[in-house]
Amino acid sequence: MRILVIEDEFKTAKFLQKGLGESGFVVDIAAGGQEGLYLALELDFDAVILDVMLPEMDGWQVLSRLRQTKRQTPVLLLTALDAVHERVRGLELGADDYLVKPFAFSELLARVRSLLRRSSPRQQETIRLADLEIDTMRQRATRAGQRLHLTTKEFLLLSLLARHAGEVLSRTLIAEAVWDMNFDSDTNVVDVNMRRLRSKVDEPFSLKLIHTVRGAGYVMETER
Ligand code: CA
Repeated sequence: MRILVIEDEFKTAKFLQKGLGESGFVVDIAAGGQEGLYLALELDFDAVILDVMLPEMDGWQVLSRLRQTKRQTPVLLLTALDAVHERVRGLELGADDYLVKPFAFSELLARVRSLLRRSSPRQQETIRLADLEIDTMRQRATRAGQRLHLTTKEFLLLSLLARHAGEVLSRTLIAEAVWDMNFDSDTNVVDVNMRRLRSKVDEPFSLKLIHTVRGAGYVMETER
């Protein structure tokens, strides 16, 4: 995964490059808006982290030019301004998310991963865990060779869990990834769907794959 950081503050740019690099991303830095826009258009990035306050061409201009070209590369805006109208402006111009400076790196990382999850096109792959097999291209899942009849959302939910097997996923994260929504409080929809999914995926089989982690969320693994 390749990320472009457009940021004129050298320290911040380097800090992001180091942190994201350690998390397995390849990071390119552009110190100005013009250079950043050029790179974003020329190269194929999976996400762009864009500072708003830049010399010459600011983040707003970069963003609107990028979207004018129909580039759908996900953009995370970095802003020092925590004003509602600035956020709205960013989202209207086509930003996918924003983060107010100063921020914790862990939060930035979580936001970037969330962006990538939402935007990554469905890849052709088969995910396997024990006797569960998921064909993401054909949207088919089987357990022990038996076809599971899932709705689209249930299938997405199952794929998400399987892709992150062994990792506890919070309800908020699941809600964002599967429903593309930000619900802070009402994650009931996750529980309801999870119950239905488990009745199809786990109930008929002795080996349970989906587990509830109290106060944390859900995890898929072969034993718990
Ligand atoms: Ca700046």
